[in-house]
Amino acid sequence: LPPAPLESLQAHDVAALLPRPPADAQKYTRGVVGLRVGSATYPGAALLSAAGADTGLVGMVRYVGSAADAVKQHHPAVVGPGRVQAWVVGSGGGEHAGEELAAAVEDGVPVVVDADALAHVTGPLPVPTVLTPHAGELAGMLSRASGPTERTEVEARPYAAALAAARQYDAVVLLKGRRTLIARPDGRARVNTTGTPWLATAGAGDVLGGLVGALLAAGLTAYDAASVGAWLHGAAATLAAQDGPITAGDVARAIPAVVRGLP
Ligand code: AMP
Ligand code: MG
Repeated sequence: LPPAPLESLQAHDVAALLPRPPADAQKYTRGVVGLRVGSATYPGAALLSAAGADTGLVGMVRYVGSAADAVKQHHPAVVGPGRVQAWVVGSGGGEHAGEELAAAVEDGVPVVVDADALAHVTGPLPVPTVLTPHAGELAGMLSRASGPTERTEVEARPYAAALAAARQYDAVVLLKGRRTLIARPDGRARVNTTGTPWLATAGAGDVLGGLVGALLAAGLTAYDAASVGAWLHGAAATLAAQDGPITAGDVARAIPAVVRGLP
């Protein structure tokens, strides 16, 4: 079969997919996202993941890991362990990423798997999964699944690479880079239309992981959470950048303004 044509979300699609609290909303019914991210080596990744998750799109954010003190200092609404509706694992995860992934999957709720945790995914996970690799990380995943694959091969044929990984890992694959692609195991795929090259900055991916996790916890499907997350992340970067330099924290802080500006 030829590949299905690439879809793209527009602002009105994002507006329709975004969860809006009903009049009788409670923080628990809006969804709780859990973060198992950051490490002694990369505590900043935990802060940026929390910044991406704690933008008001979800009822509560929980953090489990070694950066808890710093996270609570910068994000006073973030709380400790408890029930969650989705996990984010691996951003700045260092040497404990494998254990954090196992603990998250054990919980039986959807997961976003990023960065260091991607190296510990050896096949389909038993929960709805969004994998968020950049080209180098995807090359590693394809190498494990189907033989040696170089980063340059992923960059030359990103659509084929993302679809192959989505099939092999039975997961939604959000392939980051100049153009972000979101691929499903059944061959459907979307290309994201928002963003700016100013996003090529350390920590931007950590913010995206937290945001996609919040959307998963709020009840979006893995495919929609990944697509809406990529759209909001890119739009927030464009809004914050205004053709100038931005930090990953700027991107997270611009997310509510992007949501407010949706049609
Ligand atoms: P990471 O590779 O985890 O640090 O994530 C980097 C983030 O920046 C992802 O959201 C990428 O899609 C985005 N990004 C990187 N390079 C570019 C680029 N040249 N143009 C637009 N977005 C980019
Ligand atoms: Mg990254």
